[in-house]
Amino acid sequence: MPTIRANCPTCGELALAAPEVQVQVCTADEQATYSFLCPRCHVITNKPADDWVVGQLVSAGVKLVHWDLPAELSETHTGPPISYDDVLNFHFELKADNWLEELTAEANRPREPRWGRPQKKTG
Ligand SMILES: [Zn+2]
Repeated sequence: MPTIRANCPTCGELALAAPEVQVQVCTADEQATYSFLCPRCHVITNKPADDWVVGQLVSAGVKLVHWDLPAELSETHTGPPISYDDVLNFHFELKADNWLEELTAEANRPREPRWGRPQKKTG
């Protein structure tokens, strides 16, 4: 089995086996990285990989994984961002014994802006 030479930022040069390294390619932009868990300091290192490096690693038996960007990135977001007060209110709501029922009822209530400016009435 071929030995893969890699550098841990803390420990320096390492000799790894193919199963100890993984190549990741993003399907959106084809950017690739490789990663490994250092056997000495147990820290994961992730480094960019060009096509040549990807080819060398894959031909040495390193596992290649394709990954997608999270679907949430293409969602449309409206309303104000979540504030510290929102998080604090949520924290206190979770302290109630019936927090699940309260939040479920809130989620099922007809939609009105819960936060932000009150809407102007027309007419
Ligand atoms: Zn290390």
